[in-house]
Amino acid sequence: MLQSRVTSGKIAEIEVRIADDRKGKGVFAKQRFRKNDVIFREKPIVCAQFLWNEYYKYSACDHCMKSLETAEEMARRLSAISSLVLPYPQCCEVKKDEHVSCPACQTQYCSTKCKEDAEKLYHRVLCMGQHPADPEHPIAKLQDIWRNMHFPPETASIMLIAKMIAKIKQAPDKSEAVAAFSQFRRATVNEEADITHKLLGEEFQGDIDMLLPFLNEALKEETVSHWFTSEGIRSLFALIGTNGQGVGTSSLSVYVHNCDALDLNTDDRQRLDLFIDQLYVDIEKESGSFLNCEGSALYSLQSCCNHSCVPNAEVTFPDNDAAVSVMALQDIQENEEICISYLGECDIGRSRHSRQKILRENYLFNCNCMKCQSQCDDADVTSDEDEEEMEEDSN
Ligand SMILES: [Zn+2]
Ligand SMILES: [Zn+2]
Ligand SMILES: [Zn+2]
Repeated sequence: MLQSRVTSGKIAEIEVRIADDRKGKGVFAKQRFRKNDVIFREKPIVCAQFLWNEYYKYSACDHCMKSLETAEEMARRLSAISSLVLPYPQCCEVKKDEHVSCPACQTQYCSTKCKEDAEKLYHRVLCMGQHPADPEHPIAKLQDIWRNMHFPPETASIMLIAKMIAKIKQAPDKSEAVAAFSQFRRATVNEEADITHKLLGEEFQGDIDMLLPFLNEALKEETVSHWFTSEGIRSLFALIGTNGQGVGTSSLSVYVHNCDALDLNTDDRQRLDLFIDQLYVDIEKESGSFLNCEGSALYSLQSCCNHSCVPNAEVTFPDNDAAVSVMALQDIQENEEICISYLGECDIGRSRHSRQKILRENYLFNCNCMKCQSQCDDADVTSDEDEEEMEEDSN
């Protein structure tokens, strides 16, 4: 937000324009929205599943991140109860017969459409040609080094950067493809170091350079040759850190959502609710909080939405894939700015001082939302509780 982002663009019911000098661009309503209305929907410019998440068999479409296991398969894997049978199987939406894979490298897709789109946009560059891949293949090397420097819980993936470069390499008009990535908020060099540090953890910062020879060997691209340097790759991670959106998909949560909507008599409802409660207890025991296919993505429009600690909209993934829907949390008037929260559920409840600290360190701005303004007379201290929690979070 320190620097203005691309020129204004206009889409049916919303408008991207300069919010003010301080905030740069913002997204504004061009009509009234009611609570729970979908304000806009958008597919990512690029998305990638995290590598450990994939390694641990959270199977997802390589193009849209749709969760590919049936709800029952997922429930069995996450709970480690192989005999588990889910009632009401019609509530699972996974269509295994539509799944396809790359004939060469066996990368999986949810549909022929996803496979064809991936091939057309970037997969020809990223295909490792055989399954399992040759461990000496430069992309296999990149993944291996990355997994060894970035353990769960994951916040980024080298494959998001690899897909960005591959998209440029395969684009009929390379400068247009590069422009799609130059619209994002950029940090200064010092800020980039801080963000990369936050994203990857202090001890692995130095390891980033180990990725470079393999990135060069696998993907060197003249139009973005500045990306293939020590500073270049750090600035890409910083770009992902400040503009990226986490994505989580799960066939099981779609199933549970559909179960909630079933019209059942009281006894059946009670039985089903008890079953699902117990399932989540069993899953928690075995898999902790790792429930979803997880990854991150870059969106053209969603990334223009500014933050507020009292947001009027939220980011949702209603289709069990990386297509984002920004939904109104309350009625929104024409010309009102559409704001989402960049903070997690836990962080948004913290003191003004703590919220501002997190936002400044991770997203490079000082929040001046209504809530922050109304709390600006609060003592500028972080409560002890906050300090302790934040220590824990950063470990
Ligand atoms: Zn797909
Ligand atoms: Zn392939
Ligand atoms: Zn605020």
